[in-house]
Amino acid sequence: MAQTIRKIGIVGAGQMGNGIAHVCSLAGMPVVMHDASADRMKAALATISGNMARDVSRQRLKDEDRQTALKRISTVDSFEGLSDCDLVIEAATEKEEVKRKIFTDLCPALKPEALVATNTSSISITRLAASTDRPEKFIGIHFMNPVPRMELVEVIRGIATNDATFETSKAFVLKLGKRIAVSEDFPAFIVNRILLPMINEAIYTLYEGVGNVEAIDTAMRLGAHHPMGPLELADFIGLDTCLSVMQVLHEGLADSKYRPCPLLVKYVEAGWLGRKAQRGFYDYRGEKPVPTR
Ligand code: NAD
Repeated sequence: MAQTIRKIGIVGAGQMGNGIAHVCSLAGMPVVMHDASADRMKAALATISGNMARDVSRQRLKDEDRQTALKRISTVDSFEGLSDCDLVIEAATEKEEVKRKIFTDLCPALKPEALVATNTSSISITRLAASTDRPEKFIGIHFMNPVPRMELVEVIRGIATNDATFETSKAFVLKLGKRIAVSEDFPAFIVNRILLPMINEAIYTLYEGVGNVEAIDTAMRLGAHHPMGPLELADFIGLDTCLSVMQVLHEGLADSKYRPCPLLVKYVEAGWLGRKAQRGFYDYRGEKPVPTR
Protein backbone atom coordinates (compact mmCIF):
# COMPACT_ATOMS: atom_id res chain seq x y z
CA MET A 1 0.00 0.00 0.00
CA ALA A 2 1.23 3.47 -0.87
CA GLN A 3 2.20 5.67 2.09
CA THR A 4 1.25 9.32 2.51
CA ILE A 5 4.18 11.65 2.06
CA ARG A 6 3.80 14.84 4.07
CA LYS A 7 7.24 16.13 4.95
CA ILE A 8 10.31 16.07 2.69
CA GLY A 9 13.97 16.09 3.66
CA ILE A 10 16.67 17.03 1.14
CA VAL A 11 20.38 16.30 1.56
CA GLY A 12 22.55 18.52 -0.66
CA ALA A 13 21.37 22.08 -1.31
CA GLY A 14 23.14 22.66 -4.64
CA GLN A 15 21.41 23.41 -7.92
CA MET A 16 19.30 20.22 -7.84
CA GLY A 17 18.57 20.28 -4.09
CA ASN A 18 17.25 23.82 -4.23
CA GLY A 19 15.13 23.03 -7.29
CA ILE A 20 13.59 19.99 -5.57
CA ALA A 21 12.86 22.09 -2.47
CA HIS A 22 11.25 24.72 -4.73
CA VAL A 23 8.77 22.31 -6.37
CA CYS A 24 7.95 20.39 -3.17
CA SER A 25 7.16 23.56 -1.22
CA LEU A 26 4.97 24.88 -4.05
CA ALA A 27 3.10 21.56 -4.00
CA GLY A 28 2.26 22.23 -0.33
CA MET A 29 4.82 20.00 1.41
CA PRO A 30 7.06 21.20 4.25
CA VAL A 31 10.72 20.83 3.26
CA VAL A 32 13.83 20.54 5.43
CA MET A 33 17.18 20.96 3.67
CA HIS A 34 20.60 19.89 4.88
CA ASP A 35 23.98 20.52 3.27
CA ALA A 36 27.52 19.97 4.53
CA SER A 37 28.12 23.64 3.76
CA ALA A 38 26.15 26.33 5.64
CA ASP A 39 26.95 28.76 2.82
CA ARG A 40 25.31 26.46 0.27
CA MET A 41 22.15 26.31 2.40
CA LYS A 42 22.04 30.10 2.61
CA ALA A 43 22.63 30.40 -1.13
CA ALA A 44 19.91 27.80 -1.82
CA LEU A 45 17.29 29.78 0.12
CA ALA A 46 18.27 32.95 -1.76
CA THR A 47 18.12 31.11 -5.12
CA ILE A 48 14.67 29.65 -4.40
CA SER A 49 13.36 33.04 -3.30
CA GLY A 50 14.82 34.71 -6.43
CA ASN A 51 13.48 32.03 -8.79
CA MET A 52 10.00 32.27 -7.28
CA ALA A 53 10.14 36.09 -7.48
CA ARG A 54 10.92 35.79 -11.20
CA ASP A 55 7.86 33.55 -11.61
CA VAL A 56 5.75 36.17 -9.79
CA SER A 57 7.04 38.92 -12.10
CA ARG A 58 6.18 36.73 -15.11
CA GLN A 59 2.72 36.12 -13.64
CA ARG A 60 3.31 32.38 -13.39
CA LEU A 61 2.92 32.48 -9.60
CA LYS A 62 0.94 34.60 -7.13
CA ASP A 63 3.03 36.52 -4.61
CA GLU A 64 0.99 35.12 -1.70
CA ASP A 65 1.72 31.56 -2.91
CA ARG A 66 5.42 32.42 -3.10
CA GLN A 67 5.41 33.69 0.46
CA THR A 68 3.53 30.66 1.79
CA ALA A 69 5.85 28.29 -0.10
CA LEU A 70 9.00 30.00 1.22
CA LYS A 71 7.73 29.63 4.79
CA ARG A 72 7.51 25.87 4.27
CA ILE A 73 11.29 25.57 3.68
CA SER A 74 13.77 25.34 6.53
CA THR A 75 17.42 24.25 6.87
CA VAL A 76 19.10 22.09 9.51
CA ASP A 77 22.77 21.57 10.27
CA SER A 78 22.60 17.84 11.07
CA PHE A 79 20.77 14.70 9.93
CA GLU A 80 18.88 14.62 13.26
CA GLY A 81 16.86 17.55 11.93
CA LEU A 82 15.38 15.18 9.29
CA SER A 83 14.01 12.72 11.87
CA ASP A 84 10.32 13.44 11.19
CA CYS A 85 10.53 13.41 7.37
CA ASP A 86 8.46 10.84 5.43
CA LEU A 87 10.80 10.93 2.42
CA VAL A 88 14.42 12.07 2.27
CA ILE A 89 15.88 12.82 -1.16
CA GLU A 90 19.66 12.81 -1.46
CA ALA A 91 20.94 15.34 -4.02
CA ALA A 92 24.60 15.65 -2.99
CA THR A 93 27.72 15.58 -5.17
CA GLU A 94 27.80 12.81 -7.81
CA LYS A 95 30.46 10.66 -6.09
CA GLU A 96 29.62 7.19 -4.90
CA GLU A 97 31.74 7.36 -1.73
CA VAL A 98 30.12 10.70 -0.75
CA LYS A 99 26.63 9.28 -1.20
CA ARG A 100 27.40 6.00 0.59
CA LYS A 101 28.75 7.88 3.61
CA ILE A 102 25.65 10.11 3.65
CA PHE A 103 23.32 7.07 3.69
CA THR A 104 25.32 5.32 6.42
CA ASP A 105 25.15 8.42 8.64
CA LEU A 106 21.64 9.51 7.65
CA CYS A 107 19.58 6.33 8.15
CA PRO A 108 19.99 5.97 11.94
CA ALA A 109 18.54 9.49 12.30
CA LEU A 110 15.34 8.68 10.34
CA LYS A 111 12.08 7.14 11.50
CA PRO A 112 11.89 3.44 10.49
CA GLU A 113 9.07 3.93 7.96
CA ALA A 114 10.75 6.84 6.15
CA LEU A 115 11.54 6.34 2.46
CA VAL A 116 14.98 7.28 1.14
CA ALA A 117 15.56 8.37 -2.46
CA THR A 118 18.58 9.40 -4.46
CA ASN A 119 18.68 11.95 -7.28
CA THR A 120 21.85 10.37 -8.71
CA SER A 121 22.30 10.85 -12.46
CA SER A 122 24.06 7.57 -13.01
CA ILE A 123 25.08 5.49 -10.00
CA SER A 124 23.45 2.07 -9.41
CA ILE A 125 20.37 2.35 -7.18
CA THR A 126 20.88 -1.25 -6.03
CA ARG A 127 24.46 -0.51 -4.93
CA LEU A 128 23.50 2.72 -3.12
CA ALA A 129 20.58 0.90 -1.46
CA ALA A 130 23.06 -1.56 0.03
CA SER A 131 24.62 1.25 2.10
CA THR A 132 21.27 1.94 3.81
CA ASP A 133 19.46 0.00 6.54
CA ARG A 134 16.32 -0.15 4.31
CA PRO A 135 17.00 -1.28 0.70
CA GLU A 136 13.28 -2.12 0.27
CA LYS A 137 12.40 1.52 1.06
CA PHE A 138 15.11 2.96 -1.22
CA ILE A 139 14.51 4.24 -4.77
CA GLY A 140 15.89 6.51 -7.50
CA ILE A 141 13.85 9.68 -8.08
CA HIS A 142 15.81 11.46 -10.79
CA PHE A 143 14.78 15.06 -11.41
CA MET A 144 15.94 17.02 -14.45
CA ASN A 145 17.67 20.41 -14.36
CA PRO A 146 16.22 23.05 -13.89
CA VAL A 147 13.74 21.21 -11.68
CA PRO A 148 10.95 23.83 -11.67
CA ARG A 149 10.90 23.97 -15.48
CA MET A 150 11.47 20.38 -16.59
CA GLU A 151 8.42 18.13 -16.93
CA LEU A 152 10.09 14.73 -16.49
CA VAL A 153 11.22 12.70 -13.50
CA GLU A 154 12.76 9.23 -13.96
CA VAL A 155 11.76 6.68 -11.31
CA ILE A 156 14.19 3.76 -10.87
CA ARG A 157 13.71 0.72 -8.65
CA GLY A 158 16.67 -1.06 -7.14
CA ILE A 159 16.58 -4.86 -6.96
CA ALA A 160 15.13 -4.75 -3.42
CA THR A 161 12.73 -1.78 -3.78
CA ASN A 162 9.26 -2.94 -2.72
CA ASP A 163 5.97 -2.17 -4.50
CA ALA A 164 4.77 0.22 -1.77
CA THR A 165 7.90 2.37 -2.15
CA PHE A 166 7.52 2.38 -5.94
CA GLU A 167 3.81 3.33 -5.80
CA THR A 168 4.38 5.98 -3.10
CA SER A 169 7.23 7.53 -5.09
CA LYS A 170 5.18 7.68 -8.28
CA ALA A 171 2.27 9.33 -6.42
CA PHE A 172 4.72 11.86 -4.92
CA VAL A 173 6.12 12.75 -8.37
CA LEU A 174 2.63 13.15 -9.84
CA LYS A 175 1.68 15.43 -6.92
CA LEU A 176 4.53 17.72 -8.03
CA GLY A 177 2.84 18.00 -11.44
CA LYS A 178 5.64 16.07 -13.21
CA ARG A 179 5.48 13.22 -15.72
CA ILE A 180 7.21 9.91 -15.05
CA ALA A 181 9.49 7.68 -17.14
CA VAL A 182 10.24 4.40 -15.37
CA SER A 183 13.78 3.20 -16.02
CA GLU A 184 15.50 -0.05 -15.15
CA ASP A 185 18.57 0.23 -12.91
CA PHE A 186 21.30 0.39 -15.57
CA PRO A 187 24.11 2.98 -15.66
CA ALA A 188 22.82 6.54 -16.24
CA PHE A 189 19.22 5.29 -16.75
CA ILE A 190 17.45 6.60 -19.90
CA VAL A 191 17.92 10.36 -20.36
CA ASN A 192 21.61 10.53 -19.48
CA ARG A 193 22.46 7.25 -21.24
CA ILE A 194 21.45 9.02 -24.45
CA LEU A 195 22.28 12.67 -23.65
CA LEU A 196 25.75 12.41 -22.08
CA PRO A 197 27.43 10.42 -24.90
CA MET A 198 26.12 13.16 -27.24
CA ILE A 199 27.71 15.85 -25.05
CA ASN A 200 30.94 13.80 -24.78
CA GLU A 201 31.00 13.49 -28.58
CA ALA A 202 30.59 17.27 -28.89
CA ILE A 203 33.66 17.66 -26.62
CA TYR A 204 35.61 15.18 -28.84
CA THR A 205 34.53 17.28 -31.84
CA LEU A 206 36.08 20.31 -30.10
CA TYR A 207 39.18 18.31 -28.98
CA GLU A 208 39.86 17.08 -32.51
CA GLY A 209 39.45 20.60 -33.92
CA VAL A 210 36.49 19.77 -36.11
CA GLY A 211 34.88 22.99 -34.91
CA ASN A 212 35.31 25.61 -32.19
CA VAL A 213 32.88 26.08 -29.28
CA GLU A 214 30.73 28.56 -31.16
CA ALA A 215 30.55 26.44 -34.33
CA ILE A 216 29.60 23.27 -32.43
CA ASP A 217 26.87 24.94 -30.37
CA THR A 218 25.49 26.86 -33.34
CA ALA A 219 25.49 23.69 -35.44
CA MET A 220 23.39 21.75 -32.93
CA ARG A 221 21.08 24.68 -32.09
CA LEU A 222 20.26 25.52 -35.68
CA GLY A 223 20.99 22.19 -37.38
CA ALA A 224 19.23 19.87 -34.94
CA HIS A 225 16.89 22.39 -33.29
CA HIS A 226 18.30 21.76 -29.82
CA PRO A 227 17.30 24.65 -27.50
CA MET A 228 20.90 24.78 -26.19
CA GLY A 229 24.17 23.76 -27.83
CA PRO A 230 25.81 20.65 -26.27
CA LEU A 231 28.77 22.61 -24.81
CA GLU A 232 26.48 25.25 -23.36
CA LEU A 233 24.41 22.41 -21.92
CA ALA A 234 27.52 20.72 -20.47
CA ASP A 235 28.40 23.98 -18.66
CA PHE A 236 24.83 24.17 -17.39
CA ILE A 237 24.85 20.58 -16.05
CA GLY A 238 28.34 21.00 -14.53
CA LEU A 239 31.43 19.45 -16.13
CA ASP A 240 32.22 17.44 -12.99
CA THR A 241 28.76 15.85 -13.18
CA CYS A 242 29.20 15.19 -16.93
CA LEU A 243 32.55 13.49 -16.28
CA SER A 244 31.14 11.38 -13.44
CA VAL A 245 28.28 10.16 -15.62
CA MET A 246 30.68 9.23 -18.46
CA GLN A 247 32.92 7.36 -16.00
CA VAL A 248 29.94 5.42 -14.67
CA LEU A 249 28.87 4.52 -18.23
CA HIS A 250 32.45 3.55 -19.18
CA GLU A 251 33.01 1.38 -16.12
CA GLY A 252 29.46 0.06 -15.84
CA LEU A 253 29.04 -0.99 -19.48
CA ALA A 254 32.73 -1.71 -20.21
CA ASP A 255 32.46 -0.30 -23.71
CA SER A 256 35.10 2.06 -25.15
CA LYS A 257 32.40 4.11 -26.87
CA TYR A 258 31.77 5.73 -23.48
CA ARG A 259 35.43 6.82 -22.96
CA PRO A 260 35.34 10.32 -21.37
CA CYS A 261 37.01 12.87 -23.66
CA PRO A 262 40.47 13.87 -22.30
CA LEU A 263 39.52 17.52 -22.81
CA LEU A 264 36.55 17.10 -20.43
CA VAL A 265 38.95 15.59 -17.87
CA LYS A 266 41.31 18.54 -18.33
CA TYR A 267 38.57 21.14 -17.77
CA VAL A 268 37.47 19.38 -14.59
CA GLU A 269 41.09 19.15 -13.36
CA ALA A 270 41.42 22.91 -13.94
CA GLY A 271 38.30 23.50 -11.81
CA TRP A 272 36.55 24.93 -14.90
CA LEU A 273 33.31 23.19 -14.00
CA GLY A 274 30.93 25.32 -16.08
CA ARG A 275 28.46 27.96 -14.94
CA LYS A 276 28.69 27.16 -11.25
CA ALA A 277 32.45 27.92 -11.36
CA GLN A 278 31.93 30.87 -13.76
CA ARG A 279 34.11 29.11 -16.33
CA GLY A 280 33.82 26.04 -18.51
CA PHE A 281 33.46 25.90 -22.29
CA TYR A 282 32.38 29.52 -21.83
CA ASP A 283 33.71 32.22 -19.50
CA TYR A 284 30.77 33.70 -17.57
CA ARG A 285 32.67 36.36 -15.65
CA GLY A 286 31.84 39.20 -18.03
CA GLU A 287 28.51 40.53 -19.24
CA LYS A 288 28.18 37.93 -21.98
CA PRO A 289 29.48 34.33 -22.03
CA VAL A 290 32.70 34.14 -24.09
CA PRO A 291 33.90 30.78 -25.56
CA THR A 292 37.11 29.53 -23.94
CA ARG A 293 38.24 27.76 -27.16
P1 NAD B 1 25.96 20.70 -6.86
O1 NAD B 1 27.44 20.64 -6.91
O2 NAD B 1 25.26 21.96 -7.31
O3 NAD B 1 25.43 20.40 -5.36
C1 NAD B 1 25.89 19.34 -4.58
C2 NAD B 1 25.74 19.75 -3.12
O4 NAD B 1 26.02 18.62 -2.29
C3 NAD B 1 26.69 20.86 -2.68
O5 NAD B 1 25.95 21.94 -2.14
C4 NAD B 1 27.56 20.19 -1.62
O6 NAD B 1 27.95 21.07 -0.58
C5 NAD B 1 26.63 19.10 -1.12
N1 NAD B 1 27.32 18.02 -0.42
C6 NAD B 1 28.47 17.39 -0.78
N2 NAD B 1 28.77 16.44 0.13
C7 NAD B 1 27.79 16.48 1.09
C8 NAD B 1 27.57 15.76 2.30
N3 NAD B 1 28.40 14.81 2.70
N4 NAD B 1 26.47 16.06 3.01
C9 NAD B 1 25.61 17.03 2.61
N5 NAD B 1 25.79 17.76 1.48
C10 NAD B 1 26.86 17.48 0.73
O7 NAD B 1 25.44 19.44 -7.67
P2 NAD B 1 24.00 19.21 -8.39
O8 NAD B 1 24.12 19.58 -9.82
O9 NAD B 1 22.94 19.81 -7.54
O10 NAD B 1 23.92 17.61 -8.36
C11 NAD B 1 23.46 16.92 -7.20
C12 NAD B 1 23.01 15.53 -7.59
O11 NAD B 1 21.95 15.62 -8.56
C13 NAD B 1 24.09 14.66 -8.24
O12 NAD B 1 23.89 13.32 -7.85
C14 NAD B 1 23.83 14.84 -9.72
O13 NAD B 1 24.29 13.76 -10.48
C15 NAD B 1 22.32 14.89 -9.72
N6 NAD B 1 21.71 15.55 -10.89
C16 NAD B 1 22.31 16.65 -11.46
C17 NAD B 1 21.73 17.24 -12.58
C18 NAD B 1 22.38 18.46 -13.21
O14 NAD B 1 22.01 18.81 -14.35
N7 NAD B 1 23.29 19.13 -12.54
C19 NAD B 1 20.55 16.74 -13.10
C20 NAD B 1 19.94 15.63 -12.49
C21 NAD B 1 20.55 15.04 -11.38
